[in-house]
Amino acid sequence: MSGGACLMETYYAVIGDPIDHSLSPLMHTAGYRALGLEAKYLRFRVSRDQLKDAALGLRSLGFAGWNVTIPHKEAIIPYLDELTPAAVAAGAVNTVKNAEGRLIGHNTDGEGFIRAIAESVSSWQGKTAAILGAGGAARGIALALKEKGVRLIILNRTPGKAEELVRLLRAGGGEACAEELAAGAWLSEADLVVQTTPVGLRGEPYPLSLQGIKKGTLVVDIIYKPWQTPFLREAQDLGCRTMNGLAMFLHQGALAWEFWRGEKAPLAAMWAALVEEKERMETSVEGKFPRENIALIGFMATGKSSVGRRLASALNWEFIDTDEEIEKVSGLSVAEMFQRHGETRFRSEETLVLRRLGRVRHCVIATGGGMVVNEENRRLLAERALIISLYAPLDKILERVGDRAQRPLLRGPRERLEALWQARQSVYGQADMIVDTGELDVDGVVREILKELPKRATDARQQGQMEPGGEEDGQAADP
Ligand code: NAP
Repeated sequence: MSGGACLMETYYAVIGDPIDHSLSPLMHTAGYRALGLEAKYLRFRVSRDQLKDAALGLRSLGFAGWNVTIPHKEAIIPYLDELTPAAVAAGAVNTVKNAEGRLIGHNTDGEGFIRAIAESVSSWQGKTAAILGAGGAARGIALALKEKGVRLIILNRTPGKAEELVRLLRAGGGEACAEELAAGAWLSEADLVVQTTPVGLRGEPYPLSLQGIKKGTLVVDIIYKPWQTPFLREAQDLGCRTMNGLAMFLHQGALAWEFWRGEKAPLAAMWAALVEEKERMETSVEGKFPRENIALIGFMATGKSSVGRRLASALNWEFIDTDEEIEKVSGLSVAEMFQRHGETRFRSEETLVLRRLGRVRHCVIATGGGMVVNEENRRLLAERALIISLYAPLDKILERVGDRAQRPLLRGPRERLEALWQARQSVYGQADMIVDTGELDVDGVVREILKELPKRATDARQQGQMEPGGEEDGQAADP
């Protein structure tokens, strides 16, 4: 019993934002299946302002435990009743146990990392590790390495945070120093280099070259999606031994399992599920897909956001809604932005959003209805995204919208709207694929797109329009 509501099965979860990409449900569920346990593991997207309610809600509902991920690992602490020494030392919580209604915060990142690399390290004695980053994961890893007697060099974009971590390590009796985030003597001193920042999650290169690193150095990037970041690829090209974050992910999950259930986790089954997922991704349409993103264009109420979300989830990609991005940055709703600043300003905000998205990779981007009217926006989108136009007849659009007063461009007489809809059709027609959504529900549209994608990809390759296929040939680390 975990306190709270009486559940028939044992429930676990992961909370974070974003959370769509989390492999925790897959990994833990594989473990329950292997042991025949009546347990379920769910994922919840929880925004910062919902965190307290989410923690108290999970407790009331009787969840036995949950993992906490970006961006809540520190923010969750005030809502917990107790912290384990590992959580206190890391100043962050990635695992919460609901012990009869008492919430205990724990951190398994550091120990998970040690278990992941243990087989690749013959001895810890006299070793030096360079840690890139000084956030939650870096703290856990650095403190766990300190416990092994490893000398630490911390390099971080914000030097103050690196120095703070160094102070913490020294206070605990460790040998540590901070260095400027630039090439230096540390490259030849380090036996182990750990990349702990989110740089590379979208396939972007790390802003620092590893030229000068010793051959054979163990280089770990704790990112596992993509399976091989450009950072890890460079390390491999320079003759280093490399490992991505999958093994750490496995072990932090297994340690959470042990903390919750007081028994060893079925590591082999959990690892097999992760590897199977890696293989599925590599052979899925995503693996064969020649462009880095998909952009959905079309008139309002053609389903760009709902289709986009579902499509992103089916491809295991991230979802971005450009209207939501503008709202986040400006603090205004789209309707308010139109009202206060007019359409021209809104269109230029859309261009800024596309530029800001820069080198995103593996994203489904839902655009505002008028975004592609602007030629620059069309060019920015087409540079890196396969463009899919969602079509619906005007009557269908009006039926779906219901209250037109909520949509700035739908107000006014039908003739004006009809003229706008008509005028837009020529730009919407400039797409790699057009899907008629008139008679389809959201799942139907997604199915249609997934069916057509491989064919479009092949056509485009043959026409030489697109870049060659993705480079996701990364190697997962062995546990
Ligand atoms: P965090 O607390 O937000 O820390 C992020 C760190 O990255 C900070 O040091 C930050 O530097 C640095 N950083 C962010 N953007 C940067 C940029 N553009 N250039 C240079 N440095 C940058 O995050 P976290 O919880 O430590 O997680 C970091 C990553 O580890 C995430 O990708 C997460 O998915 C991954 N992770 C993996 C596992 C696993 O099991 N494999 C476990 C935990 C975390 P500033 O101090 O300058 O902001």
